[in-house]
Formats: sequence, structure tokens, C-alpha cells
Amino acid sequence: MTSSARPRRNRRLAEFGTTIFAEMSALAERTGAINLGQGFPDTDGPETVREAAVRALRDGRGNQYPPGLGVPELRTAIAAHQQRWYALSLDPDREVLVTAGATEALAASLLGLLEPGDEVIALEPYYDSYAACIAMAGGRRVPVTLRPNGGSFRLDLDELQTAVTNRTRLLLVNTPHNPTGTVLTREELKAIAELAVARDLLVVTDEVYEHLVFDGAEHVPLAAFPGMRERTVTIGSAAKTFSFTGWKVGWATATPELIDAVRSAKQFLTFVCSGPFQYAVAEALALPDSYFADFRADMSAKRDVLTTGLRRAGFQVFDPAGTYFVTTDIRPLGEVDGTAFCRSLPERSGVVAIPNAVFYDQPKAGEPFVRFAFCKRKDVLDEAVARLQRLTR
Ligand code: PMP
Ligand code: GLN
Repeated sequence: MTSSARPRRNRRLAEFGTTIFAEMSALAERTGAINLGQGFPDTDGPETVREAAVRALRDGRGNQYPPGLGVPELRTAIAAHQQRWYALSLDPDREVLVTAGATEALAASLLGLLEPGDEVIALEPYYDSYAACIAMAGGRRVPVTLRPNGGSFRLDLDELQTAVTNRTRLLLVNTPHNPTGTVLTREELKAIAELAVARDLLVVTDEVYEHLVFDGAEHVPLAAFPGMRERTVTIGSAAKTFSFTGWKVGWATATPELIDAVRSAKQFLTFVCSGPFQYAVAEALALPDSYFADFRADMSAKRDVLTTGLRRAGFQVFDPAGTYFVTTDIRPLGEVDGTAFCRSLPERSGVVAIPNAVFYDQPKAGEPFVRFAFCKRKDVLDEAVARLQRLTR
């Protein structure tokens, strides 16, 4: 046996332990608590799409390495989806790259586009893989914090502008936003686009919750704004829209030059992935409008069950305009520390949630906020809400 004073984990990853999602799902397993932590649905997506995967597998489509960019059927379907919903035209052979979920699309974008020392501005609280991937790429993250303002978390455009320096290379945007549920408005996105153009910044925009917007809120892709097509990598995923998080089918769309950069990293991460599932997702993307409308209506009803229940239980609730998460403030319950609260919640009330503090550079800024997922069956949400109402103060 040898021992070494040098830590095994390298310096770039030293600050990142086990992801909060793995930790909290393990806690749910261990305690038998209802898992409203990690965001995954407890029902699978459409049967026809599942069957399409089985058919592809049986027919021997995708059982061997698919093409590096993704199978043509899926690339064509992704391009058609961007045209159908946003009137964005893409060349499926040069401007679409299939990835192992949005997670790999994000990693490959940052690894393929950043030089060491480049500054990346990310909206805080940010999805946990952003910080790790910026670090792996040798970049420097510069958070711009969304703050509670009139019942939701909002971006301060002046703060964003001030955060841009000569070293800023890239804006990393996420709308609809995990964990706050904020959907950036057309005006906010226009201002972000103008800033990116004025300062000649690249933009990576994570739009995995694009179809989960409620109450008439609209999702507008950043790539649709003037001057943005040539500087934006747009990231999507089948995980959220079709409720198949385990399939890991995501994608990046951008100009050929940007896709080449992303692909140069992606080819050495997974090379290719999810063969038969790619054919199934191609079919899913072509589902009629009614699928998307029903999915949204269903999720919106679930959101109402959870937000109403959380309010009754005494939480301050920030009503989400998008995603399948709701952020709460626990201070009205007499609590201050979201991390301690989430660690004790399974014992106290049989529910698992996620402390938003882990999504902040300065955890203090997110200390009283706790995220609950509502992508669960209604009976599960009803039971969770009943348990939370018994929470002793
Ligand atoms: N981005 C955001 C904002 C997410 O919430 C998630 C997790 N679901 C991902 C990316 C990762 O997506 P995927 O499962 O497709 O890798
Ligand atoms: N995106 C999901 C969430 O925010 C979890 C994905 C993961 O576990 N990495 O809960």
C-alpha cells in the first residue's frame, strides 16, 4: 500500500462532492420518504414512444455505434422541432448534434468553447453541473444572482451588464430556470441578446424545460433574437419533454462552426450514445401539438396541488412560471437553514427536498430556500402535502 500527501481528486474538482441529487435520492431510499428532491417523473412518457424504442432495438437500429452527430432521423426531427415551435431553420447535417442528455451537451459546449481563464457568467442559483463543467474546462465562473422580487426570482439586468469584463467569453443562460421556476421574459431575453452582441459573447442556453411553461408564459429561444444565431449554442433534452430521463438523449443546435467545437469535445466524452432511443425520440419530437398541450396542462395541475399544499403547510411559495420545480422560503416556518432542514425533513415528515444553497457560489445567499419537484403522480403529491402539513413548528 502506498500513501500520498497529494489528494486523489484534482484541484479543479476539489470543491465538488457527491451531487445533491444523488445524496438526496439515497436519503429518500434509506428512509422511505417521498422523493420530491431529484427531478424525475414517477411515470414514464408515452407508450407509443416506449414502443418505438423496443421496435428500434428489435429491428437492430442503433444497437451498434450510431453516427457521431446522431442518427439522421433524430437530427432531422430536432431541426423540424426548432422550425415548428420557433421558426428557427437548421441544417440537420451540420447544425445539430445529439448528446448523452443535456448534461453532456453542456459539458461538451464548455470544454469545446472555453480557454483556461475565460470568464463564464451563469445565472445563480445554477444547475449543479454548470459549476463543475466550467471548472473542468478551466474557466472562471461569475455568478449573477436572481433575487426574489414580487413573488418570483428575477434577473437584474444592470448587474448582468456590470458582470461582463474583457475576460468574459460566454454567458450561460437557463430558461425556464431550475431551481427557481423563473421564465425569462421576451424583454429580458432581448436585453441579454443585445448585451451578448455588443460585447461579442458566446451564449450557451439550456432550454431543457422549453415545453414546461404555465399560465400563458412563453418560452422564447435566445437564438431567435437578432445577432444571436451565430453566437448561440441551444441545448435541449428528451428527458423533460417526454419523461424519459434514463434514456439520456439530448442535443445541441448551433451554426456549423460552433457545433464543430462542441463535437470536438463530445467525441472524446461518450463518442456516441443511446442508439435505439435516438429513433424513439425522433418519433416523440413529431408528436402532435395535443401531446405537448396535455403534458403542460397535467404538469400545471400538479404544480397547483403542490404550491397550494406548501402554502397551507406554512411555506412562502414562489409560484413557478415554468419547469417542474417550486422554490420555497422556509423562514415563515421559523426555520433558517435550508440544508439542515432538508437533512431532517425525511425524519420529521417523510418528504425529501433539495436545499437551494448548493446552487449558489455563496451558499448564504440561498440559505432559506428549498426546492420541491412536482413531476409526481397526484396521489403522491397529495400524500406529500398531507405529511408536510403535519410538520411541527
Ligand atoms: N439542465 C437543467 C437545467 C436540468 O435541470 C437538467 C436535469 N434534468 C439538465 C440540464 C440535464 O438534463 P439531461 O438529463 O438531459 O442530461
Ligand atoms: N435535473 C434534475 C434536477 O434538477 C436532476 C438531474 C440529476 O440528478 N443530475 O433535479
